[in-house]
Amino acid sequence: MSDTCIFCEISKGRIPSIRIYEDADFISFLDINPVARGHLLIITREHYLSTPEVPDEILAKALPLAKRLAAAAVLGVGADGFNILINNGEKAGQAVGHWHLHVIPRKDRSELPLREGGPADLTKLPFTAADIRNNL
Ligand code: AMP
Ligand code: ZN
Repeated sequence: MSDTCIFCEISKGRIPSIRIYEDADFISFLDINPVARGHLLIITREHYLSTPEVPDEILAKALPLAKRLAAAAVLGVGADGFNILINNGEKAGQAVGHWHLHVIPRKDRSELPLREGGPADLTKLPFTAADIRNNL
């Protein structure tokens, strides 16, 4: 737990997020600057900087969860595919220093935008979350 970490704050429920899923190890919520509708994040409950710091037994659970949430997101937003992305380290584009995995539903073949998307329409995010949750 880090006091200055925004994802720890989300993990503890001190900063709001539009949650899709949670269990003992992970929380999933919608990205606030989505690059596509249904862009979600999976974070560890515990604070780990990036993939090398995450225990293997936690990492082993992450991909099955990403698979499940990606399937729900693809159905929920009517996408045709998805990207799973983990940025590790500032040089690799990691902006938040708390391990997270991006699930990005895709509808076209345009290049994957590696920068943040624009700010989400906060009135619409809860409906997107419900569309995904309904397909879990
Ligand atoms: P990364 O570049 O891999 O570190 O990605 C961090 C992601 O976290 C970006 O896509 C941001 O839009 C997203 N993000 C940052 N703060 C929040 C927040 N409070 N709620 C939801 N997503 C966030
Ligand atoms: Zn943290």
